[in-house]
Amino acid sequence: MYPKVYAYLERIQENAKYLKSLCADSGVEMVGVTKVVCGEPTIARALKECGINILGDSRIQNIKKMRNSGIKGPFMLLRIPMFSELDDVANYVDYTLISDLEITKKLGTVSSKFNKRSKIIYMVDVGDLREGVWFEKAVSEISKALDIEGIEIVGIGTNLGCFGGVIPDESNMGRLVKIKEEIQRETGRTLDIISGGNTAALPLIEAGSLPKGINQFRLGESIICGTDATNNRNVPGARQDTIIFEAEIVELKVKPSVPYGNIGYDSFGRKPTFEDKGNRIKGILAVGEQDVDPTSMHPLDDDIEILHASSDHTIVDLTESKVRYKVGDKIRFRLGYSSVLRAFTSPYVEKVIL
Ligand SMILES: *Cc1c(COP(=O)(O)O)cnc(C)c1O
Repeated sequence: MYPKVYAYLERIQENAKYLKSLCADSGVEMVGVTKVVCGEPTIARALKECGINILGDSRIQNIKKMRNSGIKGPFMLLRIPMFSELDDVANYVDYTLISDLEITKKLGTVSSKFNKRSKIIYMVDVGDLREGVWFEKAVSEISKALDIEGIEIVGIGTNLGCFGGVIPDESNMGRLVKIKEEIQRETGRTLDIISGGNTAALPLIEAGSLPKGINQFRLGESIICGTDATNNRNVPGARQDTIIFEAEIVELKVKPSVPYGNIGYDSFGRKPTFEDKGNRIKGILAVGEQDVDPTSMHPLDDDIEILHASSDHTIVDLTESKVRYKVGDKIRFRLGYSSVLRAFTSPYVEKVIL
């Protein structure tokens, strides 16, 4: 069945090993993040084979899937939990990222009920405006959390680059170190982990400017895709040919480049625009917005242009290509992060692990 998404395990492992040792050189433990491939167990197992200890995922379903397929963990839940999933969190998750006192209390109660003690990394918002207690209030809120029963606060963490697009730097990361020191001074308790970030924070390690004390990174995109979207770059030393996508041509015809008739909006609320290039050789691929993000995929044949996609059809311009395509041929793409995410999420895409 097509479309297919191919994951090259050894290439992903090369990225994992490289990034793990890059992190280790700065005293940072790397958590391997599996959410972009929906916790695909073969990929998770391949990461474990590289010596990665903790696996992180944002969805409890993915963590359950990995555990149920025999992967030992430890597992980290990256998305701050809902009340409705706390039973599963207590039973399946080893480290939970949390940013709220009520949830922390509730998790403590639920964990105690199962005779467990959930480990928590309390999230601090140092400026990106996604999850976390605002940094000015962090010391007092986390100090309160330390007294909650049924849980253990093992560290603090932050996430940058995901809502505000704020780039991790020495100043916002340094803030995290100061907060940890102040909590330890005021409460006399020790926090072992400072979980500094995701792929977007890698340049700090590469430049050797990561503030001392940050000892954990949670990396997904850089391992699986070899890219760093927040900094708009390929990660130096990582490969980008890890995930390849293949779709089939179901129509191939010569048609004008500009539509006939008055132009309204497409089903996604966008108004398409067209440049008149005369008649073009156009292909329709049996794949669409439901399976990939057409703005985040790159034909391996450089001379192919992606024109537009609707839910189930993607239109490509094949005029400039040196290849004479025909109906039934497959076209291959390298995928960006959002396309990898959709391809692994779509039940209509066959996953092939190589
Ligand atoms: C997704 C996520 C990560 C991993 O981010 P990448 O950009 O894929 O490296 C780390 N931490 C949290 C909280 C996340 O949600």
